[in-house]
This record gives sequence, structure tokens and C-alpha cells, in this order.
Amino acid sequence: MGHVFGRSNAQLPSAVRGEGCYIHDASGRAYLDGSGGAAVSCLGHSDPDVRAAIHAQLDQLAFAHTGFFTSEPAESLAELLIEHAPAGIDRVYLLSGGSEAVEAAIKLARQYFLETGEPQRHRVIARRQSYHGNTLGALAAGGNAWRREKYAPLLVETSHIAPCYEYRLRAEGESAEAYGLRAADELEAEIQRLGPETVMAFIAEPVVGATAGAVPAVEGYFKRIREICDRHGVLLILDEVMCGMGRTGTLFACEQDGISPDIVTIAKGLGAGYMPIGAMLCTAKIYTAIAEGSGAFQHGHTYHGHPLAAAAGRAVLTGILGRNLLPQVRARGEVLQAALTEALGQHPHVGDIRGRGLFRGIELVADRDGKTPFNPALKINAKVKRFAMDEGLICYPAGGTLDGQRGDHVLLAPPFIISEEQIGELVGKLSRAIDRALDGAIA
Ligand code: PLP
Repeated sequence: MGHVFGRSNAQLPSAVRGEGCYIHDASGRAYLDGSGGAAVSCLGHSDPDVRAAIHAQLDQLAFAHTGFFTSEPAESLAELLIEHAPAGIDRVYLLSGGSEAVEAAIKLARQYFLETGEPQRHRVIARRQSYHGNTLGALAAGGNAWRREKYAPLLVETSHIAPCYEYRLRAEGESAEAYGLRAADELEAEIQRLGPETVMAFIAEPVVGATAGAVPAVEGYFKRIREICDRHGVLLILDEVMCGMGRTGTLFACEQDGISPDIVTIAKGLGAGYMPIGAMLCTAKIYTAIAEGSGAFQHGHTYHGHPLAAAAGRAVLTGILGRNLLPQVRARGEVLQAALTEALGQHPHVGDIRGRGLFRGIELVADRDGKTPFNPALKINAKVKRFAMDEGLICYPAGGTLDGQRGDHVLLAPPFIISEEQIGELVGKLSRAIDRALDGAIA
């Protein structure tokens, strides 16, 4: 033991078994998976149908390189995704994770404009307090300065506009509708500033996850964003790596915003932790321009379209749809929101409790009235994570502030199969962990 290195040098418990909403460690302790890791384990652990599908595929064929073959699991997963995708989305490119999907989306956008005779379009506009992955292209798009700092010389320049973040950015007396339009109009201004003919794509998470703790846009924001992109011929890339695959109560989060993107990325919940898989989906317009232009998207990874991963993804998607879990996500999401509000709604250091479906965030603040963030040196969310583990709860310490520093949010994304009783257990453990973290930090 000890030769694996990872996110930190902390001594971590060794996970040995998963069952339903719990992970068990080598010492026999059980942890309620309140965040599905990082919004991954949407069907919980050890799902019998997904395990059976993986075993069956493994007995047939684990791998065939996509330079030589397509495969039935990849084709049928893509077909199923397209059947349920936002309007206009027509093609699927299968990858191994979220960062790969975002990289592919950015490259696809670039190739599209080369094929359509607009080679000057190369700029990406993204939003502050966003996360799109840790590979260089995706990291450049992400809106957290502290994540980019060390690698700055290696990153392409990307513009960042403000996110749609009602809790902090809606002005006193401003209606949600007016705020949404004002926030979206920042994109218009940035496109004008850069020169519309140079802008390739705008990328955003419909519900911001890892950096902001489940922040949905206000109604009308994304409709205005769609109009602005259309007006300037800019491609709209929606990153649903975290919020997609039913997490917010609809298969794609953008359904609730009433818009369709040109490109959408998914991962996490697609494999639900059973296999590493992600996907980048695009419209027929983009696919056809490339197919009828130079012939093919100039991209590829050894494991893209991996048959075993695709079989897992298909079983997960079939499980979400076939077991009718989306209404359950919406209903249990309301139960979770109500329980969090009851337990923490009046807490002097809980500024906001928000989200959609089983994707919920809690923003911790030093001062509730002034919404003042805690001093980052206190590392409140790291402490909440640690005390939650002590309590036997996994919750995700989402962190990011508008000025790009580390922030204090707790992200909850439990399995879709979580029971109401387990929601009570989650909220009880989380409340104790928050109190313990603040106790130590403030005293
Ligand atoms: N995009 C979003 C919105 C994410 O939340 C993440 C991961 O947290 C990624 C992309 C990167 O995905 P991965 O960690 O699978 O590379």
C-alpha cells in the first residue's frame, strides 16, 4: 500500500464494497453516499442489472478499436441517447470521461468553422465559477482562477463572463426575469468586445456543480443565451457532465430551460461509476458539415467507443428510463430540499440552499445578512467533508467564488434510489458535520 498517489497525501480509508446507497470500507464502516462521489453513482452501488450487462458484454467482447470496428453496445447506446436527447441533437461521440468530452466539443466546434469557411472563429467564451475538466483545453475554459494558476502558460486564453447566480448577483429590487436577461446580455457584450466573427463557442453548465454547489439559472436566462448565440453564429456548448443523465429530474438539465444546444457533453451519471464513459453529442448540421467537408472529425482516443463501457452506459440509461426514475428524482429532490431547509434554513452560517432534482447545494457564509464568504484559509468545506466522513456520510465539498478563489459550498447528489428515510439520515449527519466544522473554525 502507499504507492498510489492522487488528490492529496491524506490517509484515506480503503473502499472495499458498495451496496445501494452505501460504500463500506476495509474496517467495516458504512458511508451513506450523499453525493454519488462527485454526482456519479446515480443508480447506487452494485446495481444487479448494470452488473449483469457488464458481465454479459465481457463474455462477448471487451474491446475492439474504433479504427477498425463499431460495436452493437456503442450503436445502441447512441441510438437510445439520441431518442431522448434535446431537439436537433443527432450524433454521439463516445469517450471515457467528462474532460475528454469537453475537449472533443471544443475541437469539434473549431473543425466545424474550418469546414464552413470561417477559420477566424477560434475564441471560446465561458463563465466564471465554472468547471469543465482538468485537461488543458477544459481547464482553460473553466472559470476558477486557482485551478488555472499553476498551468497558466499552457492554457489558451479564454474569456469569462459572470455566471447566472441569483443568490449573489441579482440586484436588490430586480426581478428574476430582469436579472436573467441582464446576466445573459453579458454574453452579447463580450461577443461584441471580441468581434463576433472571431467567436467560436460559448460553453456553460446549465446547473453549475463542482464550483458553485448546484446553481441553476433563472428562468429565461438560457433562452436569451440561445438567441444571442444564434444571432452571432456562435455555437452553444452545454456541459452536462455533472447535471445531465437525470440528475436534475429531466434526462438533460437544459430541458427545464426550454432550449437545445449545438453540442452537449455528458459523463459521470452515464456510466454511474460502473465504467468510465463520457459522450459528446452534436446536431446533424455540425456532423454533416464535417462529413461532407473533409470527411471526418479529426480526433480520437484509444478507448473511445469502448464496448464494455458502452454496455454499462446503455444499462444505466435503460435503468433510469425503464424504472421510471426521473419522477422519483424530482419528488425525492423536493423531500431533500424541504429537509435541508428545515434543518439548516435558519442556520446563521447557511446562506443559500438550492438546486434541482437530486442535485442540491448549500452555500456556507461567515455572515448570513452580508453573504460574506468565510476566509478561505479556514477551509470550511474541507472540514465539513472530513467531519461528514467521521459521521459516515459522503458529501462533495464544492468550492469556488466569483473572483476565482476557493469557496465553501456543499454539493449533494445522492443516488436516485435514495429512500426518504435515508434522506433523513443524510440531513442529520450533514447538519452535525457542518456544526462541528464551524465550531472548530469559528472558535
Ligand atoms: N465538466 C463538468 C461540469 C464537471 O463537473 C466535470 C467533473 O467534475 C468535468 C467536466 C470533468 O469530468 P471528468 O472528471 O470526468 O474528466
